Amino acid sequence: MMKIAFIAHDRKKEEMVNFVIAYEQVFEGHDLYSTGTTGTRIMDQTDLRIHRFMSGPLGGDQQIGALVAQNEMDLIIFLRDPLMAQPHEPDINALLRLCDVQGIPLATNIATAEILVKALDRGDLGWRELVDKYKPGTDL
Ligand code: PGA
Repeated sequence: MMKIAFIAHDRKKEEMVNFVIAYEQVFEGHDLYSTGTTGTRIMDQTDLRIHRFMSGPLGGDQQIGALVAQNEMDLIIFLRDPLMAQPHEPDINALLRLCDVQGIPLATNIATAEILVKALDRGDLGWRELVDKYKPGTDL
């Protein structure tokens, strides 16, 4: 079971919801997390249960980032809006940086998200369980 986080900026939320609907059967059975509004939107339109953190501008990226810093996330799908400035840009950059610190699979657009979800479905992300096994212990 993988820990997966969804974050979508406002103009990307519909794309995110459609993506999660399309792969709902792949995502069910995993531990799902999201920022506030993204999670509400996904839960409204699927049967998935998602642990929702705060809304992104209020610190949700940072909350997910805290788990990333502990290497507690296995996959992040973060549909950013590349055409609009965000008030919480520093938080967004911090999250992306921590993913690179820990080497966590991260999709920032739908094309990469598709590839990662197919890899997830095939079990290609199983190596993350080894990372989990050997990391210095924080249990979530
Ligand atoms: P939200 O946060 O899911 O609460 O909208 C994401 C964001 O806009 O950063």
